[in-house]
Amino acid sequence: MKKLFLYLVFLSFSSIISAQTPSLKTKINQKSESIESKVIALRRDFHQNPELGNREFKTAEKIASYLRSLGIEVQTGVAKTGVVGILKGGKPGAVVALRADMDALPVTERVDIPFASKVIGEYNGQSVGVMHACGHDSHMAILLGTAEVLASMKNELQGTVKFIFQPAEEGAPEGEEGGAALMVKEGVLENPKVDVIFGLHISAQAEVGKINYRPKGAMAASDWFKIKIKGKQAHGASPWQGVDPIVTASQIILGLQTIVSRNVDLTESAAVVSVGKITAGVRSNIIPEELEMNGTIRTLDSEVQEMIHAKVNQIVTNIAESAGATAEVSITKQTLITYNDPELTELMLPSLRATAGETNVILAPARTGAEDFSFYQAKVPGLFIFLGGMPKGKEVSETASHHTPDFYIDESSFVLGVKAMSNLTVDYMNLNAAKIGAE
Ligand SMILES: [Zn+2]
Ligand SMILES: [Zn+2]
Repeated sequence: MKKLFLYLVFLSFSSIISAQTPSLKTKINQKSESIESKVIALRRDFHQNPELGNREFKTAEKIASYLRSLGIEVQTGVAKTGVVGILKGGKPGAVVALRADMDALPVTERVDIPFASKVIGEYNGQSVGVMHACGHDSHMAILLGTAEVLASMKNELQGTVKFIFQPAEEGAPEGEEGGAALMVKEGVLENPKVDVIFGLHISAQAEVGKINYRPKGAMAASDWFKIKIKGKQAHGASPWQGVDPIVTASQIILGLQTIVSRNVDLTESAAVVSVGKITAGVRSNIIPEELEMNGTIRTLDSEVQEMIHAKVNQIVTNIAESAGATAEVSITKQTLITYNDPELTELMLPSLRATAGETNVILAPARTGAEDFSFYQAKVPGLFIFLGGMPKGKEVSETASHHTPDFYIDESSFVLGVKAMSNLTVDYMNLNAAKIGAE
């Protein structure tokens, strides 16, 4: 029944956005354009003053005071330095959450711009340059711009907007909790209860004006594994007197490489198993007793993820046993699958197309990188999109990737981000109101 309603609502979607909210749509566009220079100024301020994960103190203050100046109710200190703004519309309705991440990275900026970061910080006891090298400065500026647009039409909103400014997306410092998981744990999706969540990531490799999306698994789950192999120490000259954990590990690594190549249906879903670190031994003529290796598993589908976990355990245990060694495997889930709810994605595509233009909304390949937005999506339906931030006319091969010193974002991309987030919010609220009306 619910499905049918969604379908009916979907069918009449275009008439709902065009007939019921032409004035709001025009207002969103005009307001977004009129605050473009403010959004850029906000971004430059964040860019010049980056702060590492769980240390976004000044960033949080700026966000809180900006939201307050818009008449938005503000909570601070959520998941350490997170800020949540609540905007109650003039009419009751859906609760839509919008999320931006706040943290910068231990990267020393090399870009020649007047507002380049000169900040030095401390990361795990090391002195490092600090830079918004993933574009989270853009996300905060775009979300503050969106807050300004939506606050200006508060009375016409059919629901509540929750603006989630989240610390430590890139991971908390060693030994600390943080990020989306902690925000969820502290109840950010409750009071009022969030119905849907939208988020965006700027992309230095997609052209300004484009929006990339993908239903279902859009970004991978990131799991870390640790394998400990115990053999028997021996002289390197007489290996038959011991059990060699190094040779055993070599067989295990090759075994692990057959999981993806021989068990995953690669036409359906990509996956990765990589060993990134091996530690064993002290000297060339001693076969050590123990070996430890660490690696990562990336999956876009939860069934594939479960299968790979089981296979890793099976391969490691059985190969070790056949060599006369013992092995321990531990797999820890770091980040979940960034799973775009297929019904919600389908429902909101017309909104994105109406905002960016039909040909500018592109079905993109999945990414094997991870995003902690996934922790919200594990609780409520969510949609995470990519906003083009590469200067028009540039080639992807000429751009610096995210997390590098030359990472660069074209600021003319922001206004589309503000329009997209504002329209997704208003369109979802109106669709939801229409659905309730139909029931
Ligand atoms: Zn990043
Ligand atoms: Zn990022």
